[in-house]
Amino acid sequence: MPIAVKKILEILDRTYPDAKCALNYRTPFELLVATMLSAQSTDRQVNEITRELFQHYNTPEGFATLNPEELAGYIKGCGLYQAKSRNIIATARKLLTDYGGEVPESLAQLVTLPGVGRKTANVVLSNAFGQPAIAVDTHVFRVANRLGLADSKKVDETEDQLRRRIPRSLWSQAHHWLIFHGRQVCHARRPKCFNCPLVTLCRSKKDHAQD
Ligand code: SF4
Repeated sequence: MPIAVKKILEILDRTYPDAKCALNYRTPFELLVATMLSAQSTDRQVNEITRELFQHYNTPEGFATLNPEELAGYIKGCGLYQAKSRNIIATARKLLTDYGGEVPESLAQLVTLPGVGRKTANVVLSNAFGQPAIAVDTHVFRVANRLGLADSKKVDETEDQLRRRIPRSLWSQAHHWLIFHGRQVCHARRPKCFNCPLVTLCRSKKDHAQD
């Protein structure tokens, strides 16, 4: 591992020792639904929605009985709720028909579910099943490319580069560290470079020195 990458990871570890998934869930299926709801929504919004929703429905069997309008009534507090409603119900039904009602534990199978892309699949693999995975969301993409941990304009390529440059044993933690850093310091519009513990290692700091 290059020395700069090693140093960045050490600093992130020291800065965010408690970084972890901010979505509330009790089962792999609940995490799958919560992650599907999280696109273009905050974790706080999702947690408010699922606190109520999961009291009524929290299994594939339960969701499979719903129609999209019924589910939309529970989740309309988050963005894109109509599409999410259709996808979650279709996913619940596919889990029952193709996977015995269980959330599959492989990326290849997870991405066959309606509305489930690599990011959602990696979140589930990492947090629900303890598998090494790097889910590249908007924060991970931005921060990794600013820092130089990746160098790409594409999400899939960024994930691939991070997997090659970060030791496998740190993939899941690195995902959480980069999200925490993106939320707390390296904001999309006005990154706090003046208050960033990585400033001496960051190739983009000059770009934001005046912000
Ligand atoms: S120095 Fe600035 S651009 Fe680089 S990681 Fe820190 S906040 Fe982000």
